[in-house]
This record gives sequence, structure tokens and C-alpha cells, in this order.
Amino acid sequence: MSAKSDLSLIRNIGITAHIDAGKTTTTERILYYTGVSHKIGEVHEGNTTTDYMAQERERGITITSAAVTCEWEGHRINIIDTPGHIDFNIEVNRSLRVLDGAIFIIEGVAGVQPQSETNWRLADRYNVPRIIFINKLDRTGADFYYAFSTLKEKLDIVAIPLQLPIGAEENFVGVVDLIEMRAIVWEGGELGAKFHYEEIPDDLKEKAAEARQNLLDTALSVDDAAMEEYFDKGDVDVATLKRCIKKGTIKGDFRPVLCGTAFKNKGVQPLLDAVIDFLPAPDDVEGIRIAPPEDEEVDENKLPIIPVDPDGKFAGLAFKIINDKYGTLTFVRVYRGVLRTGDTVLNTTKGHKERIGRIFQMHADKREELKEVHAGDIAAFVGLKDTQTGDTLADSSDPVVLERMSFPIPVIDIS
Ligand code: GDP
Repeated sequence: MSAKSDLSLIRNIGITAHIDAGKTTTTERILYYTGVSHKIGEVHEGNTTTDYMAQERERGITITSAAVTCEWEGHRINIIDTPGHIDFNIEVNRSLRVLDGAIFIIEGVAGVQPQSETNWRLADRYNVPRIIFINKLDRTGADFYYAFSTLKEKLDIVAIPLQLPIGAEENFVGVVDLIEMRAIVWEGGELGAKFHYEEIPDDLKEKAAEARQNLLDTALSVDDAAMEEYFDKGDVDVATLKRCIKKGTIKGDFRPVLCGTAFKNKGVQPLLDAVIDFLPAPDDVEGIRIAPPEDEEVDENKLPIIPVDPDGKFAGLAFKIINDKYGTLTFVRVYRGVLRTGDTVLNTTKGHKERIGRIFQMHADKREELKEVHAGDIAAFVGLKDTQTGDTLADSSDPVVLERMSFPIPVIDIS
């Protein structure tokens, strides 16, 4: 997309998880399923992930890139890498700042683990809207209902299931979709396995009806008009219910929960749908605060907010620098205006000018060169000489300094 992007079609998200909960696998599967339409000729039966990932490695782009871009249902999803390990708390902070929403993965056997709690609190600090994915439901000992109970117990949140599992452990075959009230069943567990819709199985009908009632009661409570419609008609349409879930998710009133097994390829497509349906577009969230004046004690919450504005003067935040075989890549989240190859901008944090060389967006299997990048989007710039993580780049006629990273990061006791 080089023309001015429609903000509603962009999602900037992170995926966060306790180590081993399945972040890498889920990211791989997302890249596979979002790339599958233009890869269809390359993916043969029996020619699965390994080959796909091997090709990626050969091309030198990995899923651990600072930000990787993919397409789903006409939307662009930028997945920003959020390091999972506790030692990388500073990095987690940096990345949480530039994303608009997150998939929070927990494991189906253990549920919420200490490190998930730490990451959850960090995401709270930046008001990051979240959807939760309970992964590994195919594993022996996995129990959706136990894992779900740890959300309340350990995180003290209002979690609402959007799905219920069908079958358990090695017999886990799919999910009940509580929004559309239908079953989604995968025909096998390989990469690319097809799914189909079915009636909700008899043994789950009552449970599903109860869970849907809970979903309606919780989701509609955030919207008076929807609640009224519900009282009048006894139900609401799918679009209204989705709108309410999105509203409550963005405000943090409740946290939607989905489930599946990334490894066995069940649940990934509905998870992508949920990213589009419930996580915010760049203009659904408030924007970014300007930095407090140097050496002055101010209430950070009172500082002005720069809204995401495609028509404003350019402003963006550098959130990650990486060196690869192509040179130094500076990953920038653009909040305002547009930046084109060859433009000169001011590094307002340091007070010097920088010239933008080439602009790229990273995909799973290629890097795409762009001529320009717009507010709401994320791209990597080549050619910056002295810009560090956390620096603001801005049009010199409106030299705003965006929120600084606060260091040192408070130590969070997880013992
Ligand atoms: P990360 O540390 O969160 O990135 O976790 P990984 O994605 O690397 O997964 C850790 C291990 O769990 C790997 O051996 C995966 O193959 C395995 N794994 C991931 N997802 C699933 C799943 O849905 N089911 C099962 N059984 N194993 C999984």
C-alpha cells in the first residue's frame, strides 16, 4: 500500500507470552496463514512448516524481525516483536509503547504463569488492549476451564470467552464460536488443514447457551443503545455484538478469550479474525503523549496527546534499531503525517537532522521497498546516522518530542 492508507485497515499488534507458551509457533502460523493465499502454488501436501521456515531463513528475514507485516482480510497487520524474557523488560517497554493492541498467549496446561503476570502488568501500564489466546489445548493435561480460571485468580480481570473448546487433549478438534453460535472444526491438524462449520455438538449446547448469555451481558453493558436493542428484541445482531466487544476490549472493561492449538493448526484463523474485529486500528486509540520538559517534575498524565493524524506534520518514534546484512535498520512508528524517501527530518530528541534513505516493510518472505510511509503505520528506515531507540523524528517546522522511554524501569517483583 503506497497510497495514503486507510487507518481502519491497519493493526499494530504485539504477541506476548510466557516463555514456551507458544509465541514463536503462533507467530509462524500467523505468517503462514496470512501468506498462504499468494503462496498456494508453493505449498504442497507434506511440504509443511519446515520448508516454509527454511525458505524464510534463506531469504534472511526471520519472524524475530523487529516488526513484520502481513495481510488478512484486506487489513495490514504489523506484528511488533515483544521480547518475552524477563531480562528484556526494557525492550518489552519499548515495544509496548508503539503497539495498539496485543495477543496475550497463555498455556492450556499451566494457565497464567509468573512471567505472564509481569507482562500483563506492563501492558496495563500502557493501556494496551488485549485478546487472550489459550494455546496448547491438544496437550495431555490441557484444560481450557482451568487455564481460564487462572486469568481471574492471577490477573484479577474480567475475562469473557468468545469460544469454547470442542473435545480435549488429543481429541481437541475445534471450537464453538459464541458470537455466531456455530462450531468450527478442523479436518486434521496439519499446516493448511481446512476447517468447516457445524452445528454445536449436543453435549455443548447448554454450556454454549450459558456462555453466550454471559458474553451478551458483559459485552452489551458497555453500550447503552445495544443494551436497549437487546431488551427490546431479546437479541442483537452479530455486527452489534462485535462492535460492543471491540469497545469493551479497547477500554479494558473486559478481556476476550479465544483458544486452540497453534502447533496443531487449530484456532489460528479465528484468532486473526479477532485481531481485525476487536483490536484497535491506530485511530481507535488516543495517540502518544509529548515528552515532559527536561528536568521538570510534571504529571505525565497531563501532558498533551498527539493524536494519530495523517494530515499533520510528520512525527514518528524510533522503537528498535537492528543491524543486518543490509545495514542499519531503524524501525519507526509514524504518528503524524507522511515521510518519503529522501526527506530530511529532525531528530528532535538529539537536535540534529537525519536524511531518510530507503524505506522498507518486512514481510515473512520478502522485504518490500516503499516510497513513503503514513501516520498509523510502521516501517524500517535505512540511512539514519545517529538515531537511537526512543528518539523522535519530526518535521523541523513542528519539532515535537514524543514520549520518552522512562528509565530505569521499575523492578516488578514476581517472586
Ligand atoms: P515461545 O517460547 O513462547 O516462543 O514458545 P514456542 O512457540 O517456541 O513453543 C514452545 C514449545 O511448545 C515448542 O516445542 C512448540 O513446538 C510447542 N508448542 C507450541 N504450541 C503448541 C501447541 O499448540 N501444542 C503443543 N502440543 N505444543 C506446542
